[in-house]
Amino acid sequence: MNTRSDMSSNTQTRLFLCLKDNYGVLVHDPASGATAAIDAPEAAPVEAALTSSGWKLSDVLVTHHHGDHTAGIAELKQRYRARVVAPHREASKIPDVDETVGEGDTVTVGTLSARVIETPGHTLGQINYFFPAAKLLFAGDTLFSIGCGRVIEGTPEMMWQSLLKLRALPDDTMIFCGHEYTEANVRFALTIEPNNPALVARAAEVKRQIAAGMPTIPTLMGEEKRANVFLRADDPDVAAAVGLAGKPAAQVFAEVRARKNKF
Ligand SMILES: [Zn+2]
Repeated sequence: MNTRSDMSSNTQTRLFLCLKDNYGVLVHDPASGATAAIDAPEAAPVEAALTSSGWKLSDVLVTHHHGDHTAGIAELKQRYRARVVAPHREASKIPDVDETVGEGDTVTVGTLSARVIETPGHTLGQINYFFPAAKLLFAGDTLFSIGCGRVIEGTPEMMWQSLLKLRALPDDTMIFCGHEYTEANVRFALTIEPNNPALVARAAEVKRQIAAGMPTIPTLMGEEKRANVFLRADDPDVAAAVGLAGKPAAQVFAEVRARKNKF
């Protein structure tokens, strides 16, 4: 388990594994005592993290409807009476929703506030939560470190546009995502960009982190911009590497994503 404190905004986070390779994360506001869980893959690890931190759950902020992000909601809701916030387009598929939100809406956790960014692609209603003061992004299954979510419900063009929205956030934005997939993502990315120095450096860092039993999350947007091939589909080197020099970025993205699916 990993606890971080951002002194400038006084926002604390706690990251922990759930299920096989899902991440749960708590966001805590010391000023009010409010604590949000970002998604709820299963209840027990969330409760364990709450117990060991002494925090009390006030909110569950859901990114999308998949079961490995929502299965713990009902139990947490019953135990803590927490408010459940979910994307309006997927509310009917998510249990115990109290409030639905969409693009540009503000969600508060005590005195903290997050902006909702809609990122359709992995699912059609997926949303991400960006806390501007602390520069924290909860990217769900849209953006992973050196990867991105599978395009299950949307189109590659839609997913590329969603990734561009996230890429526009400040370089020092700290990204928490839904899964620990980084090692496999790095292995794949090196097949496309074996000579990208930022990717090579990230590969070495990830190897050290995994060997030490550390999470590879969170990661920084600036580093992802340089090393994550899925955020680099508009880079001529990436287009050339997949035989699509001069083609539109969305087409390059689709090709990279298709190759990852077969990897
Ligand atoms: Zn998902």
